[in-house]
Order: sequence, then C-alpha cells, then structure tokens
Amino acid sequence: MAKETIFSKIIRKEIPSEIVYQDETVTAFRDINAQAPTHILIIPNKIIPTVNEVTPEDEVVLGKLFTVAAKLAKEENIDKDGYRLIINCNGHAGQEVFHLHMHLLGGRALGPMLSR
Ligand code: AMP
Repeated sequence: MAKETIFSKIIRKEIPSEIVYQDETVTAFRDINAQAPTHILIIPNKIIPTVNEVTPEDEVVLGKLFTVAAKLAKEENIDKDGYRLIINCNGHAGQEVFHLHMHLLGGRALGPMLSR
C-alpha cells in the first residue's frame, strides 16, 4: 500500500489548509508557499506517489484533475489571461511530496516554462 504524506492529513482535514474544492475523488487546496497570486494544488484523494505509478484505472480520476483545474481557474478569474498546470515527478523535477498533485498557477505572467 502507498505511503501516506501530509496531503492525506489535508484530505481528512486533520491539519489546517485552505481547501477550495473537495469531492469523493479529488481535493484542491491553496499551496502553503504560493509562487503566484493563485497557487492551488489539485490532488486525487487516492494516494498515487508519482506519475510513474499511474495505471489505467486512474484515468478517470486524473482526468478530473483537469476539469477541477478549469473550474477553479474560472473561479479565480485567471482563465482568460492564462495559467500553468505543472505535475512534477521525482528528483530532477523537484517533487517534494510523494502524493501526485497538479499545481495550478496564475494571476501574473509566469515567465519562461523552465529555469535555465
Ligand atoms: P512538489 O515540489 O511538486 O512536490 O510540490 C509540493 C508542494 O506542496 C510545494 O509547492 C509546497 O509548498 C506544498 N506544500 C507542502 N506542504 C503543504 C501544506 N501543508 N499545505 C499546502 N501546501 C503544501
């Protein structure tokens, strides 16, 4: 069984966080160390440590990360100006929390996609 991270405690509301969306399969909350005016993490409630562990049975819940991202982008009023969705995987991408998550970033021009 996949190992729990701090995100499981957020899903179960055992530690404080600003949850902006939650249903039976997906939770979204504001990043504690925001890198942009809008910085929300959208996660499956099921623990999937990294993209490497994704299986075909996850396709529906992972598709839902995108529909929730689109809904939240609209609510945050960043849909027209634009935003960035990021999923980091393992060390070279700088993944810190091993519970797959999509970053929704926006509210300012975000600059080049990658630092050099
Ligand atoms: P990553 O580097 O893709 O694994 O991103 C992990 C993100 O989780 C970082 O942007 C952290 O700021 C964020 N984070 C870690 N702990 C918390 C927390 N308790 N509440 C909200 N965001 C968190």
